[in-house]
Amino acid sequence: MLKKMTSIMLAGALMLALAGCSSGKSDSEKVEVVTTYSIIYDLVKTIGGDKVDVHSMVPVGSNPHEYDPLPEDVLKTTDADVVFYNGLNLEEGNSWFKKLLKTADKDGKDAPVYRVSEGVKAIHLESKGLEKEPDPHAWMDINNGIIYVENIRDALIKEDPDNKTYYEQNAEKYISELKKLHDDTVKEIANIPEEKRVLITSEGAFKYFGEAYNMDTAYVWEINSENQGTPQQIKTLVDFIKQRDIPALFVETSVDPRSMETVSKETGVPIKGKVFTDSIGKPGEDGDSYKKMMEWNTKTVIEGLK
Ligand SMILES: [Zn+2]
Repeated sequence: MLKKMTSIMLAGALMLALAGCSSGKSDSEKVEVVTTYSIIYDLVKTIGGDKVDVHSMVPVGSNPHEYDPLPEDVLKTTDADVVFYNGLNLEEGNSWFKKLLKTADKDGKDAPVYRVSEGVKAIHLESKGLEKEPDPHAWMDINNGIIYVENIRDALIKEDPDNKTYYEQNAEKYISELKKLHDDTVKEIANIPEEKRVLITSEGAFKYFGEAYNMDTAYVWEINSENQGTPQQIKTLVDFIKQRDIPALFVETSVDPRSMETVSKETGVPIKGKVFTDSIGKPGEDGDSYKKMMEWNTKTVIEGLK
């Protein structure tokens, strides 16, 4: 796609500064997309296929609540034809995404910046003082993942109408797969005896999952980027676990596991596996796509709580 003159100048300046890095330019026929983190990256790749060139900022295995954009991220965002982010309070730590859009001159009203969670029914945080803030982890309900896909499809069509049919066909096929996965997940979770149906993780990232698939959830801290794993938070969770017959704890791939290890030690309840919340898995490893991470989580939770 054609790039604005200012972008080319900025790109040139940055490239000089980044001697040794790759050129940052790719096939000019493709739609240049930037995503904030790996889950949106995977959805965009699935819908956009070979018509898009996607740069994802927050590395796989890290969480997108807080991030320091690299010079390459600034360059790619400046040049991007489309930028996708989650919103709902996710990319808020240190206002990193807002600042990035300003630096990249993408903060204007007409900038091609799309919130993939548009239209999702938000669940709110429950910690004192945060009750009006939405919980960002809407993708953990696969029906919301379908809304993300529809938003991505519509945005790609708007920015690249020549490939409308291509995006529509990819989205239709993928949405039918996700519908099946949602239905299967409902059925599989329902097989866990109700009194054992409690999902305990470090961050409270499973609210949407719990509501969609009928599970109780509990956590050490409610959302990444606030105080994590304070003695008080650990004590509250330990007390909760002691009141119920909890067979297993779980730890996310994108958090520091030490708090959950402490909870496990203090309660004698084992950690029965890793789950994916804020990131997909590394390419070629477990959970390396949105679908695979959701399948992995359900399988792990069922086996752990048996
Ligand atoms: Zn999170």
